[in-house]
Amino acid sequence: MTASAQTSFLIRGGRVYDHDGDVHQPAVADLLINNGKIERVAPDIAPGPGVEIIEARGKLVVPGFVNAHYHSHDAMLKGMFEEMPFDIWALHTNAASYGRRSHQEIRLRTLIGAAEMLRNGITTVQDFLTLVPAEEAYLDTILSAYEEAGIRVVVGIAARDRAALDIAPLMAMDLPQSIRDRLTGVSRPAKQELDFIEAQMRRLGMYPRPLMTWAITPSAPQRCSPELLEGLAALSHKHNLPVFTHVYETRPQAAAARVQSSSLLDILNRAGLMNERLNLVHGVWLASSDIAMLAESGARVVHNPISNLKLKSGMAPILDLHDAGIPIALGCDNYSCAETQNIFVAMRMLCLLPAVTAYEPHLINAAYSLRAATLHGAKAVHLDGQVGRLKAGMAADLMILDLNEPAFVPLNSAVRQIVYAEAGRAVETVLVAGRPVVRDGKLVTVDEAALAAEAAELSPGLRREVAALAEKSADLIPPLLEGNRAAWKVVTGLERYVGRKER
Ligand SMILES: [Zn+2]
Repeated sequence: MTASAQTSFLIRGGRVYDHDGDVHQPAVADLLINNGKIERVAPDIAPGPGVEIIEARGKLVVPGFVNAHYHSHDAMLKGMFEEMPFDIWALHTNAASYGRRSHQEIRLRTLIGAAEMLRNGITTVQDFLTLVPAEEAYLDTILSAYEEAGIRVVVGIAARDRAALDIAPLMAMDLPQSIRDRLTGVSRPAKQELDFIEAQMRRLGMYPRPLMTWAITPSAPQRCSPELLEGLAALSHKHNLPVFTHVYETRPQAAAARVQSSSLLDILNRAGLMNERLNLVHGVWLASSDIAMLAESGARVVHNPISNLKLKSGMAPILDLHDAGIPIALGCDNYSCAETQNIFVAMRMLCLLPAVTAYEPHLINAAYSLRAATLHGAKAVHLDGQVGRLKAGMAADLMILDLNEPAFVPLNSAVRQIVYAEAGRAVETVLVAGRPVVRDGKLVTVDEAALAAEAAELSPGLRREVAALAEKSADLIPPLLEGNRAAWKVVTGLERYVGRKER
C-alpha cells in the first residue's frame, strides 16, 4: 500500500486539544482515523492491521483552522503595497485592471495560497473568488489546484453588477468626468452574474470536488443591485448555502450609506439575506442598531484584523459584537492587503485588539479565540458538526504541533501558548479528511521548491504590470484622499480609531 492510498492512521500518545476539556494541559490520548474520519479518541488504542502509526508523544494535536475569509486571486501580489487606505488599495489591486491571466499563473497563485495555509494549520478555506473574466475553464483550473494541494474549500464566486469604487458618492462634485468615469468603471447585468453562478452549480453539482462545497458571495450590498441580491438570496435558500459579503469595512462605506440614507443591513434585509446563513465580513463600522439587527437575525461576523489595520479601516467592535451574542469567525483576507494566511496571528489580534478601547478584563481570551478559529469558522461555512473538534465522527482535519518548539517550552498553557506564542513554526503534521498533507513541516502534496521557482519566473512581469497600473492611477490618488477626508466630515457617531473624535 502506498502512503497516498493509506486511509487508516493511529495518532499515538499526543496531547489532544478539547475545547471543553483542560485547555491548559490537554489530556494524552490516541486518535484512530479511518476513511477520512476520526473513529475513536481514547488512551492506548491498539493498532489493528494496516494502520499506519503517527507518533505524537511530546506533541499537541489541535483541530485544523477555518480561514473564513480569503480571496485567492492576488496571491502573486503579496508585498507589493503599503500605506494605502482601502479605496486606493482597491484601485491598485482590482482584478479587472490586470486583464486575462494565464492558466499557469492561476494554478500557481491558487497553490501558493493553499500551500501556506496548510503549512500554517489551516485545513478549510472560504475562497471568495474573484474570477476575471468569469469563465468555466478558469474556475476548473482553480478547483484542480486546490484538489492537488488537498485543502478543504468552500468556494464562492464573487458577484457584483455595480463597478463603482465604494467611495464614489463622497468624491468632489467638480471632478472632471474623465476621472469620474475611471472611478465608476463599467457595470454588468445582474442576470449575467446569476446565470454564470447557477450554471457552475448545475455543471459541477453541490460538491464540485470531493472536499469542496459552495458559498454565495455578493461582493457587498452597495456593489449589487436588488435584483442580483435577491437572486443570490434565492440560491442560498434553495441549496441551503452560507452567504458571505463585505459590509461596513471602511469609514467611507459607512459615510456613503449615511449620505445616501441607505442602511447596508436594510438592503440585505430587503433582499432576504438577513438570516442565520449570513456572514458579514469585516463589520468594522457597524452601529449599535446594526449589531442588534444582526444578533436578531442569527448572522455572524468574520473578523479580519490584519487587513482592517493594514488598509487603515479601523478596529472592529469585537466586544460589542460578543456582548450581543454574535459569534465571531476569523479570516486572513487577500495577500495584497494582509500578506499572509496565518490564523495564529489572527487569533492573537482578536484577543489583543480590544485593549485599544477597553481597559477592563473581558471574555475574548485565548480559548475563545481558538473556538473562533475552528468552531465558529465551521459554522460560518456550514461545516459545523464536521470540522473544528477532535471527536469521534468528525472529519480528521487536524494539525500536530511540536511541543519542543520555543513557543511551547515550558508548556504552562497549551491554549495561551498556541494563541500568544506560536506563529506556525511548530506545525509538523497536517491532515485534511484523514490524508496527511504536511509531514515534518513540509507539504507532501505539492513541491514547494518548484512552486517558488515558478513564482520567481512570473513575478518580474507582474511587478512591471503593478508599476504600470500605479503610474496610470497616480492622478486619481489626490481626489481619493480628498474623498477619504470628506468621509471624516460625515457624522457616524462611531469611534473606530483611538483618540480620533468626529468633528
Ligand atoms: Zn474580502
